Amino acid sequence: MIADRYDAFFLDLDGVVYVGDRQTNGAASALDRLRSMGKDIRFLTNNPTDGSEIVRRLKELGIEAKEEEVVTSGTATARVLADRGIGPVWVLGHGGLRKAMTDAKLSLAEAPPCEAVVVGWDDDVTLGQIRRAALAIRQGALFVATNEDPTYPSSEGILSGVGVVVDALIAGSGTRPLSVGKPWTAMFEQARRTLAPGKRAVMIGDTPYVDVLGAHRAGIDAILMGSAETYPGKLDFRNPDGRIDKLGDLFDDAISMGVWDSPTYPWPESVEPGVAGVVLDESGRVLLMRRSDNGRWGIPSGHVEPGETVQTAVVREIREETGLEVEVEELIGLYSDPVSQVITYPDSRICHFVTSCFLCRVMGGSLITSGPETLDAGFFDPHDLPEPLMSMHPRWLADALAPSGRPFVR
Ligand SMILES: [Mg+2]
Repeated sequence: MIADRYDAFFLDLDGVVYVGDRQTNGAASALDRLRSMGKDIRFLTNNPTDGSEIVRRLKELGIEAKEEEVVTSGTATARVLADRGIGPVWVLGHGGLRKAMTDAKLSLAEAPPCEAVVVGWDDDVTLGQIRRAALAIRQGALFVATNEDPTYPSSEGILSGVGVVVDALIAGSGTRPLSVGKPWTAMFEQARRTLAPGKRAVMIGDTPYVDVLGAHRAGIDAILMGSAETYPGKLDFRNPDGRIDKLGDLFDDAISMGVWDSPTYPWPESVEPGVAGVVLDESGRVLLMRRSDNGRWGIPSGHVEPGETVQTAVVREIREETGLEVEVEELIGLYSDPVSQVITYPDSRICHFVTSCFLCRVMGGSLITSGPETLDAGFFDPHDLPEPLMSMHPRWLADALAPSGRPFVR
């Protein structure tokens, strides 16, 4: 049975332990049985409140829990901020979130100035507060989201969640938040730190893109409870290692776990069209620029903007990045390998690029060797390239110089 495979069980609350004010089918007795087997239990909820409120709520359902077994997006956010030594903090959230902050010895501000704006849930948040918070973020305050769940289920129907206020602040501040709750890894890492070394943990949740994705990002196996859809890609981080209908299924010998192979790349939020250009001069040397964001040498590359063909996009990117006017000669290949084409940006956005790579010839212009995105630039003998290179470019350059004359699809 699945219960034998793990030493620690990380449980989502809403949809797994309870729905509204009722425990799920057999939840209390399944938890008792896990405890009697000596298993560690942790409750991981995106509800941005403090641990004592969750303990009280579980007790009302007949489930005993200790506060140190509870990780909420509120307590996790407080820990992240306390570890960074940040304060004072302006909290757009109700009393439980404020308590989580003061429990972690953070100082609270009732308005800007503040070092961080923390978004949780507050029924009374106003557009005036959102405007002031957006301005504070533009003026340098750290933007922190307890979670980004757009909605949550309730007895009244699907209700708006914290993500609605977070989206308003993203729009107003032009900044993305440091996001703490599932599907990011902070709550899983905090829960794992409370276990003895070597303990095998598994996450049980009812939402693939929150519980399963977050566990897999943190390198933890994940079981999906309920009938939520799965995703077509075999390596999709949102697909679980196992599936159950109720917590009691953990003790059913007929139900087993599958194996989800963890890929080596982070899970991207979006797939985007990209372009890149191998630019040769008349003596066959290749144009490389050293990027200021990661210090690596690479060929010019960028996004396709709305309304552009890939050819006009690559010509524009090369002009903007290097000052050179080029003509597209031919398509070298179309590249989508996630190992090298999933890019994490400094603001934590993660994109998977599908890049059209073209062979180009210089027609005019003059080479700019430094700029906001460029530390250096020049033409190099393809057999004597500078280091370090962007990881995918040796393959692209080899394809560009290969004699086959056929576009590569990788
Ligand atoms: Mg849930």
